[in-house]
Amino acid sequence: MKYSPVRNFINGQWSAPSGSAALEVESPLNGATLSSVTMSSVADLEGAVKAAQAAQQLWAKVPIKERVQVFFRYKRLLEANMKELSDLIREENGKTWDEAKAEIEKAIELTEFACAMPALVSGELLEVSKGVECRIDRVPVGVVASIVPFNFPSMVPHWTIPNALVLGNAMIVKPSELVPLSCQRIATLLQEAGLPDGLFNTINGDKEMVNAICDHPGIQTVTFVGSTKVAKLVYARAAANMKRVLALGGAKNHLIVLPDAHPDMAGSNIAASMTGCAGQRCMAASAMVAVGKSDHIIERLCEEARKIQPGVNLGSVITRQAKERIERYITEAEAAGAHILVDGRKAVVPGAEGGYYVGPTVIDHVKPDMAIAREEVFGPVIAIMRTDTLEEAIRIENNNPYGNGASVFTQSGGLARQVAEQLSAGMVGVNIGVPVPREPFSFGGWNESKFGMGDITGKSSIDLWTRLKKTTVKWNPESRTNWMS
Ligand code: NAD
Repeated sequence: MKYSPVRNFINGQWSAPSGSAALEVESPLNGATLSSVTMSSVADLEGAVKAAQAAQQLWAKVPIKERVQVFFRYKRLLEANMKELSDLIREENGKTWDEAKAEIEKAIELTEFACAMPALVSGELLEVSKGVECRIDRVPVGVVASIVPFNFPSMVPHWTIPNALVLGNAMIVKPSELVPLSCQRIATLLQEAGLPDGLFNTINGDKEMVNAICDHPGIQTVTFVGSTKVAKLVYARAAANMKRVLALGGAKNHLIVLPDAHPDMAGSNIAASMTGCAGQRCMAASAMVAVGKSDHIIERLCEEARKIQPGVNLGSVITRQAKERIERYITEAEAAGAHILVDGRKAVVPGAEGGYYVGPTVIDHVKPDMAIAREEVFGPVIAIMRTDTLEEAIRIENNNPYGNGASVFTQSGGLARQVAEQLSAGMVGVNIGVPVPREPFSFGGWNESKFGMGDITGKSSIDLWTRLKKTTVKWNPESRTNWMS
């Protein structure tokens, strides 16, 4: 084992999780065992909540302009440790090194945004009657929990960590049991940046720990990022326990490609979108609706897809089961009559035969009722459906239950506008394969891709992490009295 067993970080101290079940942490790059992670017990969570509550009481009293100083230092630590942090993401998740580095670059951007928070939460004040003022302050919610998935071991935790902490909360993060190593490094760097003990805690575990978090009365807000099935469970359970909840789920992102689309731009963008992070991105293109005569664009897409080589510029998928699931979807689509134009099954990387690789896969003539068109495959695979009309293409996109991202490819501004208005997704692109909004814009889908109010990042997250306190003040005894005095 390259790394020692994963520990919890509670109240600034490292401790072994005290549950009984344990899992191996494997590198999907080659199947090597990296570490092990023992599940935490409810008593471990109890300790984390108590520490967080005590630390949060003090942190809430620190002015926000002082709180952000920790994150200015933290940003510099992320920059200084970029290589080591990226290596770790690559090892535990299987991404390419550039993709792993992009996670840290995004973590830095998220931290920069949090450092700008004092300018965004300066409050409101108005004289509401003669001599009577009303002011609004944003007050932290208290102790918050963030439950995260395997596909971004560092970026998704950073969606919540800097904003929640800068806004005065204490936090408990439950890492994915498949990739628990990066969160350990986040904890050490936050401590090194001077974050007071107890404000940031990690608690390792699986679904039992997720349920315990949803049930714990000392936690006021829960965020979840993961599959739709679990997002619904978490949303329902935490809300039934009267918590504020934002639960982001899975996705099936559609690209509508019109015949006038720029073939090179469309081909390279779509290939990059479907294969980036081995297709394990909630914003990856996984369904394409080709309208009219689009063969020339599909040919360009296939040429680009063939340039993407497992183990070179394409990482692995997360587990053997994931590889088998993705390959099963491809085989079933083929059996149902779809045409495999580029086939990524049976990918083997010399020297990394134990790794879990699937090559880029382009499947044409998929029918909207096939499983590969309806379900989240989460691999480097695109299912192409053909339509004669734009109306039919929009209907196909609108009928899919998810609503994270959707894009249109065309050189006509008018058509782009028309389609963008009709797509049923929270994040829409024009001639872009991965329409992820960057800070200060917020991240969040619609429909079965998100449950709860608002978005998880950007300005929208301010409402998630704070409560409004309205204070009405009358100082002058000579104020003119009226109906509200
Ligand atoms: P997952 O739902 O299996 O796991 C997410 C978290 O939930 C993990 O921490 C896991 O320990 C926990 N969990 C798993 N099963 C549970 C259960 N039955 N009850 C309670 N908790 C449970 O997701 P994953 O496989 O880690 O991540 C991939 C999924 O996440 C994909 O569906 C992807 O689209 C989605 N995702 C969505 C977004 C978004 O912004 N909408 C971002 C990243 C990933």
